[in-house]
Amino acid sequence: MLPERIRDRQAPTEPCTAVAAALPGVVDGSIRLDRADRRHVEQCLRCQAELAQYRKLLRAMQALRTSTAPVPTGLVTDVLAHLEAAGERSAVRAALTGRKVAYLGGIAAATAAAGAGAAIVLVSRGRKGRLPLAG
Ligand SMILES: [Zn+2]
Repeated sequence: MLPERIRDRQAPTEPCTAVAAALPGVVDGSIRLDRADRRHVEQCLRCQAELAQYRKLLRAMQALRTSTAPVPTGLVTDVLAHLEAAGERSAVRAALTGRKVAYLGGIAAATAAAGAGAAIVLVSRGRKGRLPLAG
């Protein structure tokens, strides 16, 4: 448990809480504080420190806007090589799976044809057996 005066110094006061949401807007110029809030910020070290942090952050972000990251040497070549390799792998896989489907289709057709042939043979034998009786 903190002593009373330290806790009061660390906890934001009611005016600080009310002004805190407006401080980023004050820094980028989109928000203007009213007279009472301006007076509070002029007297409050906590709010002044927070305002300074927002200014520092805004400067850093503006500096980032103009800086560009250098493209590593060979990056484009590496990306193109990887894309080409992935495309070849995909084409080979598609060709192999396409052949598998064709083989399976051929086996299924041959099995069906053999089954149909066997059925025809069985039916014709059965009819041959009956034909003499019918005639
Ligand atoms: Zn304050």
